[in-house]
Amino acid sequence: MEITEPIESKNFLQEIIENDIAEGKHDGRVLTRFPPEPNGYLHIGHAKSICINFGLAKQYNGQTNLRFDDTNPVTEDTEYVESIKEDIKWLGFDWANEYYASDYFDTLYDYATQLIGKGLAYVDDLTAEQIAELKGTPTEPGKNSPHRDRSVEENLDLFRRMKDGEFPEGSKVLRAKIDMASPNMHMRDPLLYRIKYAHHHRTGDKWCIYPMYDFAHGQSDSIETITHSICTLEFIPHRPLYDWCIEKLEIFPSRQYEFARLNMNYTVMSKRKLLQLVNENHVSGWDDPRMPTLSGMRRRGYPPKSIVEFCDKIGVAKRENIIDIGLLEFCVREDLNKTATRVMVVMDPVKLVITNYEGTGEHLSAENNPEDQSAGHRNISFGKVIYIEREDFMLDPPKGYFRLSPGNKVRLKYAYIIEYENHITDSEGRITEIHVKYYPDSKSGEDTSSIKVKTALHWVPESAINAEIRLYDRLFVVENPNSDKDTDFKEFINKDSMVVNTRAMLEPILKDADFGKSYQFFRLGYFCLDKDSSSEKLVFNKTVGLKDSWAKILQK
Ligand code: ATP
Ligand code: MG
Repeated sequence: MEITEPIESKNFLQEIIENDIAEGKHDGRVLTRFPPEPNGYLHIGHAKSICINFGLAKQYNGQTNLRFDDTNPVTEDTEYVESIKEDIKWLGFDWANEYYASDYFDTLYDYATQLIGKGLAYVDDLTAEQIAELKGTPTEPGKNSPHRDRSVEENLDLFRRMKDGEFPEGSKVLRAKIDMASPNMHMRDPLLYRIKYAHHHRTGDKWCIYPMYDFAHGQSDSIETITHSICTLEFIPHRPLYDWCIEKLEIFPSRQYEFARLNMNYTVMSKRKLLQLVNENHVSGWDDPRMPTLSGMRRRGYPPKSIVEFCDKIGVAKRENIIDIGLLEFCVREDLNKTATRVMVVMDPVKLVITNYEGTGEHLSAENNPEDQSAGHRNISFGKVIYIEREDFMLDPPKGYFRLSPGNKVRLKYAYIIEYENHITDSEGRITEIHVKYYPDSKSGEDTSSIKVKTALHWVPESAINAEIRLYDRLFVVENPNSDKDTDFKEFINKDSMVVNTRAMLEPILKDADFGKSYQFFRLGYFCLDKDSSSEKLVFNKTVGLKDSWAKILQK
């Protein structure tokens, strides 16, 4: 008899790693790294890279290093280092070692002198413009620099003096001596070092020359004996240089593999653009709940598990595509549905008086989460006066309106069935009070009234509390804010991406709301307490609606 095993589809990185393990490469060891540049906060694209690097290592009993790619002192800062570490931990991953490319500056300097010694690198005095001019184009070969044939001794001397601060910024660079006619522009004597009199967040003023990305990255991988250096597709043309450096320096043979970066609609993800949004006050900061940053998503109430689940769902591909932001929201909703505590909040309250309700009121028991029995119950006070949503009552409703209207009975969630009697308006004709009668024998859970209703309305008791509620929408009004080269992406910012509601009335239990906890406001969506909350004022963020309102709009 044949035994059929379930076929598990593997992504191309898993296949590569499994092959390497099968061949006994590096004794079957798997060591990946996540190499952020500490020049901004992590965004959802980085989450994909984190999930891939940490996920693969975990799957194959390996480890992952966290390496800060801090070779550009001008844009980097310790604030970013701290935020990056916090975000990775929040996603649920642990690194084996915390390293900094700047820790390797001495070794990298030594590697550079080795290349010079082998006649494979030279100091060039050309300006950046002159270097660009001689570089050629993808279809035309470049031309050699007049300084290309300096002697090893002269190069060693000049490079040491570059390091010692004898030359002004921009006056000299160190270049690899490869091939000015290479079809790959990155191989046309790429820059290895530049002079920069800048204070570095870790090495201070020790260095005035800094390695270029291409000279630091691969060598750092090699120093750490990274087995699989996984990066995004735009680094494919850098790979020959990555391999060249490793080969010429005869150092540990790390290998680079590329996958398609995450692109998402209605979003920008370049740190440069996100920094502009922050600096020009289009958002309140890197952790503004509308930002695609992990800190923004955390503040917005996205559970880390839902982000990991999203990264898992989109998979690993070799070709770029654009992911619908609705998929991320779907993952968030799925997770919150299981975990969020249910409560009632009325966004636009109108007073409701139950004319036949006698006595001082009662306490009703409400289930905290029908998806989770262990979440237990809470009490809500109920009485003659409560508040309901203004839009849940219509005097003259269209067909198919099943909420409260003359002749149309509804249930008050966790409570009784009610029926309209009359109402009071102010001088402008606006309804200020709705009067109803209730059916005492229709109490939820012990209903003997046999009245059928189609809708259960949410409501809050007279003792409801106030809060500021921030409602968010897409930050951009077009699917691809990056598409038009002639238009500044900021022109596409959604002016209504945040709407603040200060009228809302909330179930009193929410005055003890916890940070980091999610609440489902019955019929409205998922919400969480914002860090702007104080003992005087509660602030809630809307995390996501209950249903995908965008899918509906797009279908129209
Ligand atoms: P940005 O373009 O936003 O500035 P970056 O690539 O310069 O991003 P790094 O800090 O260098 O940012 O990125 C760290 C790692 O995260 C790199 O390996 C990079 O390839 C990866 N990464 C960055 N953006 C994405 C993305 N959108 N999807 C997948 N991986 C990404
Ligand atoms: Mg980068």
